[in-house]
Order: sequence, then C-alpha cells, then structure tokens
Amino acid sequence: GCTASDVARALRAVSEVVAEHRDELVELDRVIGDADHGENLQRGFSAVVSTLDTAVPETPGAVLKVAATTLISKVGGAAGPLYGTGFLRAATTLADRSELDPAGVAGALRAGLEGVRARGKAEQGDATMVDALIPAVEAAERAAEAGDGIAEVLSAAADAADKGAESTVPLVARKGRASYLGERSVGHLDPGARSTALLLRALAGAAR
Ligand code: ADP
Ligand code: MG
Ligand code: MG
Repeated sequence: GCTASDVARALRAVSEVVAEHRDELVELDRVIGDADHGENLQRGFSAVVSTLDTAVPETPGAVLKVAATTLISKVGGAAGPLYGTGFLRAATTLADRSELDPAGVAGALRAGLEGVRARGKAEQGDATMVDALIPAVEAAERAAEAGDGIAEVLSAAADAADKGAESTVPLVARKGRASYLGERSVGHLDPGARSTALLLRALAGAAR
C-alpha cells in the first residue's frame, strides 16, 4: 500500500521533474500564453517540498491537502487554483485512510479530475490539462480493475496522459489565455497538458 510518507516522496519527485522541465514549460507557455507556467509550477512544488520538510502529515489525504493549500497560495495564475482544487478533491475523497491501494490511487486521480473540471469548466478537446487528465484517469481505472499494482496504474496513467497532451497540438484552445489566440493556438502543445503528463510520470517513477 501507499502511505503518507510514500505520497510525500512522490511529491518530492514531482518537484524535481517540474524543476527539470521548467524551461520547457516556460517555452510552451511563451508561444500561446504568458511564459510563466514552468516558473509558476516550480515555485509551487518547491514550496510543497519545503512544507513537507517541516512535517509530513499522518495520512495520504492530509499530505495531499497540505500540497493543495500550498499550490493554491503559491502558484497563482490559472494553474494554481486548478491543480490546487484537483489535489484538494483527491485529498477529500481519501478522507483519513492510512494507506492507498491501486483502486484508491485511481479514485484519487478521478476526484482530482472532477476538481479540475469543476473549477475550470473545460471539456475534453478544449486543449487544456483536462485533455491529459481524462485519458489518464480512464487508463488508471482500467489498470486498477485489471488487478495491476500502484506503479502499473500510475504508469498506465502517465502513458495515456502523454498521448492526451499530444492530442492538444492540432486543437483550437477554448479555455485560458491560449483561447485569446483563437485559430492561432493550433499547432501548439498546451503547457498545462504537458505539465499534467510530467506530473503523472513523476508519480509513476516514485511508485516503482
Ligand atoms: P496563466 O494562463 O494564468 O498564466 P499558467 O500558465 O500557469 O496560468 O497555466 C496555463 C495552463 O492552465 C494552460 O496551459 C491550461 O492547461 C490550463 N488552463 C487554463 N485555463 C483552464 C481551464 N479553464 N480549465 C482547465 N485548464 C485550464
Ligand atoms: Mg501562463
Ligand atoms: Mg500567468
């Protein structure tokens, strides 16, 4: 099972991956946004790590809740409230469970997606992080139902998120800053979809 300290370790892995890909995310956002996505996320996840350095809460849900409130206060822009709400919904659905099984992980991802959707109102095909997250959650649920372990569930999610992120390239952006470009947003990878795929890949790596 996956404990609070496993979740904390996974968030440290996310912070490292975000830092490694900071410039890439900035460049993606420069083309169709305001060039801050990598910076926003790096600031947010390094603050999450700092918070976890002082104390790791006792349950996976409590760790995710601390991450959520930190992201909401530090990331800003569109992505802060979106990722923050996603983490918060995941935390809420886990309540005070002390360990997560594969179905619990898939359930947390599902709740996270519902949080992002409730907050941002994006549909699949609007060229946002939702386009990475929907197929990721579906793949995670299929893997969990097939009896796969947590690492397999998360790597199935990450694979699906990569494809989902790529699917934003030919789309017209319909939400967020990129939507101001209209047809000129076509041909570009959405930065939030890319960061969602990176985040899931980091979680999968940490679960191995
Ligand atoms: P900002 O656009 O405020 O500078 P960021 O650059 O940090 O914020 O994040 C931009 C990303 O947020 C986009 O690439 C997109 O994936 C995501 N995004 C923006 N608006 C929405 C929305 N309404 N629903 C889902 N995702 C969104
Ligand atoms: Mg931006
Ligand atoms: Mg901005």
